[in-house]
Amino acid sequence: MNSVEKKEITWEPLEKAIPVDLFKAEVLAWAKRIGVHSKEIHIRPMKRKWASCSSRGRLTFDTELLLQPARKRTEVIVHELLHLKIPNHGPVFRALFKALLSGKYK
Ligand SMILES: [Zn+2]
Repeated sequence: MNSVEKKEITWEPLEKAIPVDLFKAEVLAWAKRIGVHSKEIHIRPMKRKWASCSSRGRLTFDTELLLQPARKRTEVIVHELLHLKIPNHGPVFRALFKALLSGKYK
């Protein structure tokens, strides 16, 4: 039993975080709009980043993202999903990112 580590967990009030299922639904909805397929969606605590994606289409999001405002969640979700289409942060990536967030993407 590892009782020491358990004490270090800080619990956030439930009402501040959105449910994991809702978050995953947001990711899937954006994936559909962008036209990419995310093979796996994982949510776990991450130290340095909000999210990451592997070249094989596996997305990982930081648990703390569930506590962020909708706008922040959207930015991170769109950013990672776009990487399934464009692996860099070049002009095409930036243009698409801007268009998606402004609602002008079709
Ligand atoms: Zn990136």
